[in-house]
Amino acid sequence: MLCIQCGEDRSKVVDSRESRVGVRRRRECLSCGIRFTTLERVQNRTLVIIKQNNRREEFQRAKLAASLTKACVKRPLPINAINKLVDDIETKLTELGKQEVRSELIGELIMSRLKVLDRVAYIRYASVYRDFSDIEKFKEEIEALLLPDTSNKVTNAQLSFLGESNEALLKPRRGRPPKL
Ligand SMILES: [Zn+2]
Repeated sequence: MLCIQCGEDRSKVVDSRESRVGVRRRRECLSCGIRFTTLERVQNRTLVIIKQNNRREEFQRAKLAASLTKACVKRPLPINAINKLVDDIETKLTELGKQEVRSELIGELIMSRLKVLDRVAYIRYASVYRDFSDIEKFKEEIEALLLPDTSNKVTNAQLSFLGESNEALLKPRRGRPPKL
């Protein structure tokens, strides 16, 4: 395990914790002293995704990251937000303990998280994933976001972008900073 700061390959384990997704080890680099955490997990089980056309494909983290990056392009998200999201979804899938998972489930997982993280990214993702056949359905989806929901701590001011046209929502803003 190479040090994240100096690349040294010797480190000592200062703490070790079992979790459902594997063993987390807190390590300290023997050269520069920085501490970092590693996650050790069993590799022999590959997760297979069953796509909508019933074809099967190996789960690829990079593919998931790419689709999220696309949805979140030019959004004011914290550094590492996408990585965290990918970790979160991967962990959730691992926790299911299944060998095969339907792609719809992953889509729902992604959307439930994007909805909380960034609504513009959510709408972008949903517009691709849900394959809205007509603008009416898409409108319903956006209107559903407007319904009061106590689980989301979003103020009216944050929702002000919903006054704009759907098209504006789907495109990254230019010039002035987003209101969200
Ligand atoms: Zn180091």
